Amino acid sequence: MRLRVLAIGAHPADVPKRAGGTVARYVKEGHEVYMACLTFGETMESQLLWEKPEMTIDKAKSIRREEFLESAEILGVKPIMLGFDDNFSIHPLTEEKQLKVAEVIRRTRPHIVLTHWMMTLYDDHRLTAKSICFKARELAADPEKLKETGLKPWSFEDIYFFEPAETYGPITGFLEDIYIDVTDVWEVKMKALEPFWKSQRNNADYYTQVALYCGRQAGVKYAERFVQFRTKRVLKLFPTPRNLRE
Ligand SMILES: [Zn+2]
Repeated sequence: MRLRVLAIGAHPADVPKRAGGTVARYVKEGHEVYMACLTFGETMESQLLWEKPEMTIDKAKSIRREEFLESAEILGVKPIMLGFDDNFSIHPLTEEKQLKVAEVIRRTRPHIVLTHWMMTLYDDHRLTAKSICFKARELAADPEKLKETGLKPWSFEDIYFFEPAETYGPITGFLEDIYIDVTDVWEVKMKALEPFWKSQRNNADYYTQVALYCGRQAGVKYAERFVQFRTKRVLKLFPTPRNLRE
C-alpha cells in the first residue's frame, strides 16, 4: 500500500532535523510524503540572520522559505508552507489558522502524521502538536466545516511525535517507543540540513550523535525515535463482553 504521510512542524527546519531520515526513508520506499511548516521561523529560529544589521522580517521570511524548499527537494517531499507569523505567544493559532491547517489535512489526506512532541516546553512546537492532535484534526473531520473548499472531510489515527529539541527532551517526559532505522538515508538527511545553516548555527554534529545513540538502542547504525499518540482507546485491562467471548 502506498501511504500518504504528512510531516508537519512549526518552523522550516523542524522536520528535517528531527525526522528527516524517516521522511527520506518513506520517499525511498515509494510513499507520498508532504512536509509542512506553519511559519517561516523568521524571529524564533533565524539567529544568524539577525546578526546582520540590514535584516528585516520580510527578508528573513524569504530566506527561510528558500531554505525550506531546498531541503524539501533534497528529501524528495512535497513542500507546504502555511506562512503564519512565528512566535505563537504573540501571534496565536486562531480558529482561522487552525482551519488552514485542517485544509492541509484534507488536501493531503494522510494515513500517518509526524509532528512535534506535545509536551515540549517550546510554545510554537507544543501548540503545533496540540493543533494536529485536537483542534485541526477535529476540524478536518467535521463535515460542517470548510464546505467552501469542496474538500472532503478526512480523519487519521496514526500520529507519531518526533524527538523534541535537544536541551529539554528528558524533562518533557519524552519516552520513545519507536525507533526507525535511517542508516540507508543518513546522507540524504545530512544534505537536507545544509540549507538551514545560512540562518542557524550548524548543529549537524548534535543530530548525528543523537542518531548514533538511537541506533545503539535499536541495533542499527543511525535511528530516529518517536512516541505514538494513541487516538483510539483500547480497553483491554479489564474483561469486556467482547473479550470474554473470545
Ligand atoms: Zn522549531
